[in-house]
Amino acid sequence: MQEVKPNKKPMIFYWLIALLIIILLNTFVFPSAMKSKVKEVDYGTFMSMTENKEIGSVSVNNDEIIFTDKSEENIYRTGNLNDPQLVDRLYASGAKFDKVVVDEMNPVLYYMISLAIPLIIMVVFSRILSKKMAERMGNNPTMMQFGMGSGANAAKVYVKSDTGIKFSDVAGEEEAKELLQEIVDYLHNPDKYSEIGANLPKGALLVGPPGTGKTLLAKAVAGEADVPFFSISGSEFVQMFVGMGAAKVRDLFKQAKEKAPCIVFIDEIDTIGKKRDGQIGGNDEREQTLNQLLTEMDGFNGNNGVVILAATNRPESLDPALLRPGRFDRRIPVELPDLQGRIDILKVHGAKVKMSGNIDYSEIARAAAGASGAELANIVNEAALRAVRQGRKKVQQQDLMESVEVVIAGYQKKNKILSDKEKLIVSYHEVGHALVAALQTNSAPVQKITIIPRTSGALGYTMQVDEGEHNLMSKTEIENKIATFTGGRAAEEIIFGDITTGASNDIEQATKLARAMVSRFGMTDKFGMVAMETVTNQYLGGDTSLACSNETQTLIDQMTVEIVENQHQKAKKLLTDNIGKLHEIAKYLYENETITGDEFMQILYSKNNVPGECE
Ligand code: ADP
Ligand code: MG
Ligand code: ZN
Repeated sequence: MQEVKPNKKPMIFYWLIALLIIILLNTFVFPSAMKSKVKEVDYGTFMSMTENKEIGSVSVNNDEIIFTDKSEENIYRTGNLNDPQLVDRLYASGAKFDKVVVDEMNPVLYYMISLAIPLIIMVVFSRILSKKMAERMGNNPTMMQFGMGSGANAAKVYVKSDTGIKFSDVAGEEEAKELLQEIVDYLHNPDKYSEIGANLPKGALLVGPPGTGKTLLAKAVAGEADVPFFSISGSEFVQMFVGMGAAKVRDLFKQAKEKAPCIVFIDEIDTIGKKRDGQIGGNDEREQTLNQLLTEMDGFNGNNGVVILAATNRPESLDPALLRPGRFDRRIPVELPDLQGRIDILKVHGAKVKMSGNIDYSEIARAAAGASGAELANIVNEAALRAVRQGRKKVQQQDLMESVEVVIAGYQKKNKILSDKEKLIVSYHEVGHALVAALQTNSAPVQKITIIPRTSGALGYTMQVDEGEHNLMSKTEIENKIATFTGGRAAEEIIFGDITTGASNDIEQATKLARAMVSRFGMTDKFGMVAMETVTNQYLGGDTSLACSNETQTLIDQMTVEIVENQHQKAKKLLTDNIGKLHEIAKYLYENETITGDEFMQILYSKNNVPGECE
């Protein structure tokens, strides 16, 4: 184990400043204050001044004589010798016998002040400093020795009554709940497990995309178990000074062991748990903190009742040592909710607001495909806000549907007026997407198209609705999706003979899909089942890194272009074949600004000119 010492440099720094102040005060300020014009002279000088009649006022005390010259400007002091004729001689010299006022500091007082002022400064300094330190590092025993006070506890202790969150507040995520239920059960009744000789996992790691309820689940565990709950965020360990994070980890586990059985929850653990890459100039502080965490997790056996939960959305970046059995050996995936999960989450949050009687949650859940728990909670809240804005007492279906769009695409931009020409282009562009989607049998039908500008910057958008859950995507489905993405641009080309910037997002998405087909899904004849790219960031946007030669990279690029172009041509053909429908629906959209899926389908399949099947 590494012995970690906190960095004392800043402390010494401040003490040095205090010392400097003392020296400066003593050299410049106090001497001039002390001077106050009193001059020590010997008795001989006093005698000769008396002889020469230079004395102004004089006062004779028991052990000293204080006198001034004639101008009374300079004050002198001398010792009092046993001199019987002194008074006579002074009288003869014409000196005034008067109390000479010396505005001089009492030397005792002077020394006290010259010491006290720097001392006060030092005390004030160290007070401020210790406060700051305490904020930064929490309870650090080493610093306490240093006499800087203790500071607040680093880990917040949650107990049952604090969070009040139960498993019933977490909708969906049944698998995660089941795994966590076991931990709760163990904490309630450890004997049941030890009798059989079972050791419970020491740590469980909740992994999943942002907003899926990882933090919520951990809080629910605390709510269900009757044990103390220590919650700390990974970022709280990361300190400015090397060693303090490690001290914090030590402190947290010390507290936890005292309070066992208990749960320690480390949120966003990737902040400290990143792979130690051994690079020169790596993050020392983070590595020390991680080392300390690893040591602490080894430091107790599974049966002493401390269960560690952690959450992250970057599991791939975690240090392998952290994931080995005996540490975070149980991994609990917290995935984006499926359709039923979304319905349940909407219901949980819907129960907190006043809903009108006939809400079709499944319609909303379908529209909000791909939304996380946090987004769904936000949708319900937005709907409630909308109801208030419109002066209603209850939330209606319409509020919820509108807020799905708000959460997906942003608010309607009231003051952004599209010119007629732009509006026309956007109409054709959006209908292009929708028509291509609808004409390809495997594509999901359109739910709604609008050309009302949104705060997200979209000038219009097409909302597609997945009928069911898709876990797999076939090659044809991906190709159709790419064709749908290119449909907007294709419509512009056909109708206006010119193209606009409006397709940039479509292009990005189409490229991503096509590229993945080549480099990850093995959907080309050329490469077969060889992965050219690996996903490095599964839950956060799915960034990828290339693992192939430059030549292959060039090939991948070429094939990507080829795939997108093929689909683009397919979309163009579909639209030209159905140009009558394109005009008809675009006209409707242009006039009404919004078209629902039903209206769209009605126009598409109306009259006798049923659209031609493609392929
Ligand atoms: P993260 O996974 O990023 O830690 P949180 O647990 O902080 O996400 O979730 C944020 C919010 O989203 C929660 O406070 C809750 O309101 C809502 N939420 C997320 N998932 C669910 C769920 N499964 N059931 C109910 N609410 C959820
Ligand atoms: Mg969280
Ligand atoms: Zn588009």
